[in-house]
Amino acid sequence: MELTKILKDKGVVGAGGAGFPTYAKLKREGIDYYIINGIECEPLLWVTKEILMRFPEKVVKGLKALKEYTNSKEAYIGVKGKYREILKGIEDVIVADGYNIKTFFAGDFYPAGDEQVLVYEITNKVVPPGGIPLMVGSVVNNVETVYNVYNALFEDKPVTEKFITIAGDVKKPVTVKVPIGIKVSSILEKLEIEYEDKVLIDGGPVMGKIISQDDVITKTSGGILVFEKSHPGVSKKILSIEQILRKARTCCIQCRYCTDQCPRYLLGHDLEPHKIMISLAFNLDDRFLKNALICSECGVCEIYSCPQGLSPRRVNQHLKSVFAKKGIKYSTDKKEFFARENRELRRIPTSRLKVKLGIEKYDKHPEFIDEKLKAGEVKILTKQHIGAKAVPVIQKGDRVKESDIVAKVDDNVLGANIHASITGIAVKVTEDFIVIKGEE
Ligand code: SF4
Ligand code: SF4
Repeated sequence: MELTKILKDKGVVGAGGAGFPTYAKLKREGIDYYIINGIECEPLLWVTKEILMRFPEKVVKGLKALKEYTNSKEAYIGVKGKYREILKGIEDVIVADGYNIKTFFAGDFYPAGDEQVLVYEITNKVVPPGGIPLMVGSVVNNVETVYNVYNALFEDKPVTEKFITIAGDVKKPVTVKVPIGIKVSSILEKLEIEYEDKVLIDGGPVMGKIISQDDVITKTSGGILVFEKSHPGVSKKILSIEQILRKARTCCIQCRYCTDQCPRYLLGHDLEPHKIMISLAFNLDDRFLKNALICSECGVCEIYSCPQGLSPRRVNQHLKSVFAKKGIKYSTDKKEFFARENRELRRIPTSRLKVKLGIEKYDKHPEFIDEKLKAGEVKILTKQHIGAKAVPVIQKGDRVKESDIVAKVDDNVLGANIHASITGIAVKVTEDFIVIKGEE
């Protein structure tokens, strides 16, 4: 079977972000750089680093298969230089096998792991605003995605499990593998982590989103962070959009720090959050507001730059949804983009970001639990990816084995199949989710 067909069949999607189906990124020509993103720039999370440390052969072999399929000229694994020693296993595997794969060591700044930032750091090419790396001859996958590619290609294994880090205000941070569809509360209870009256965040402390204990783990879950409600890392996340917009309209002093430190502005994109803020305050036309569409939501403006405690990031998120409803997309007549001259001087040191977030005391290497957590029941969503929902192919009462396909997308439709993450009986099947009760 062709590689792209296997990846779609086995449900491999980006194991972070929006979950873009991996097969749909692959072209057989025109790719100069195949890049594995091992940066993991959000503090506290250790999934990427654990996979690189524990499964270097899988990552290298998965990357090699992708490089060969796409006929890419070069292949890179990008990691932070400060982790060079603990990730030495990757270099050893590359050297031992003589693979034509290079390592790229990034500086310790935020957001070094932003896909477009990493492409620029490695290739010196700027991905156009609103564009994708393929437009400059690059493909980027994260480490866990390539680990899943290896499992699909060489072990005939679909995506049924997810590594997550649980950290923050917990006695013992851990990284552990869990079945997809397991409830957040179930994970925390099994690990004896207290979460009553705490705020739970899916993902990192900067870009992560507040979730409920009843939410479930998907193919794109990044981690579970547990914080007190009063923690500075969550205060802006719990403000309503009305509060955010009211403050934005009245308190912006047009200092333009948000623009001068914005990683996308520094890449040469026309994203100037201070202009978005003033346009919002004075109800100006959409000319500057539309540039919110090219915001990566990295949070530098919100966490680091703004002396007024404003959140251009949340404003941009809001504007994106407004424009999406109106069917307005970003466009520009510019053809070429060049990083701004002082970009390197304005990059944000991760250590300073941690201070701003108030998370230095939680910044430890989590223990790795070398055994998958068991789930008595899972609720598996039929849309965990960009593209169409998968359509259930089982019915209530059916018995399924772990790894069976339970929902499918048609061959000619963008999306990815969904598989049972435990063996058991389907007790509820809807177009949005399937609940499987495990066998005792
Ligand atoms: S979140 Fe702020 S700093 Fe980040 S890209 Fe958007 S405007 Fe720029
Ligand atoms: S940093 Fe804050 S106060 Fe300064 S221009 Fe940006 S939003 Fe306004």
